Amino acid sequence: AMTELRKYATTASNTVDGRNVEICANIGNASDAGNSMKFGPNGVGLFRTEFLYMGKSNWPSEDEQFEEYKKVAELMQDKATIIRTLDIGGDKELSYIDFGKEENPFLGWRAMRMCLDKTDVLKTQFRAILRASAYGKLMIMYPMIINVTEVKRANALLEEVKASLKAENLPFDEAIQVGIMIETPAAAVTADSLIKYVDFFSIGTNDLTQYTLAVDRGNEKIADLYTPYHPAVLRLIKMVVDASHKAGKWTGMCGELAGEANLTKLLIGIGLDELSMTASSILSVRKNVVNIHYEEAKKLAQKALNMETAEAVLALMNE
Ligand code: PEP
Ligand code: MG
Repeated sequence: AMTELRKYATTASNTVDGRNVEICANIGNASDAGNSMKFGPNGVGLFRTEFLYMGKSNWPSEDEQFEEYKKVAELMQDKATIIRTLDIGGDKELSYIDFGKEENPFLGWRAMRMCLDKTDVLKTQFRAILRASAYGKLMIMYPMIINVTEVKRANALLEEVKASLKAENLPFDEAIQVGIMIETPAAAVTADSLIKYVDFFSIGTNDLTQYTLAVDRGNEKIADLYTPYHPAVLRLIKMVVDASHKAGKWTGMCGELAGEANLTKLLIGIGLDELSMTASSILSVRKNVVNIHYEEAKKLAQKALNMETAEAVLALMNE
């Protein structure tokens, strides 16, 4: 099957009627990026940097991070890599930071919430990413955003770091794109406001599903309720894509849903511009892209968005 699919590592990622949809890789470190190359990703849609922080006894230094980001930037050459800033908390802990006892860690002190309290941690990461941006095409993405204020505060810190790099005469990409993950219903519903402060969105369907349905993504007992096919999740995704396009910007998806090959047509029909996934899914998803008619996909999406249940959506997808 791999040999039959291999040609899709090099084909243009365009639908039959010429709509470009980038098919990218999710990675956790530079070695993942290297391993993804054989599948011909159009870029890295999600670099989960928390793995550089986990399994250590102290914060990774600026240089340590810089070296890892630079490796990825150089590997990907002119293709973009979206580096997500530290997304810790929830079920992901660090031995060298005290989260205290939290009743609901997934609703607690995590990701950008923590980073905006520990601004030195965030600024160190920004410095490392910006310095590495001189070696390739990097983008920055903030996780777990719920409001405009968080974005403005993070952007202000980023500008501070840019100014100090300039003062030190250190090179970086001054036009680096900044985006946010849309993984809370609050962010999805206010996407039209949030888009004013960023260049792009990437939809994190793993958390968006959990928070929209109030279903813990890791709880086996309610696993049957955890479904991104729920029309509520699909309609939120549609709102986000439309808000970004209205502002002349773009939206990708980096949750697990993006890599589900039986959904490619629906996701393209909803209007997603980029899909990022486990590298081993890239070939089969790109094969779908080149066989899809965008105009037909839009009609399918309209049907799916009007369904009453996740089961009905799934049945439509398998028709
Ligand atoms: C998501 O929530 O969909 C996502 C991509 O982030 P993570 O799985 O790392 O929480
Ligand atoms: Mg997430």
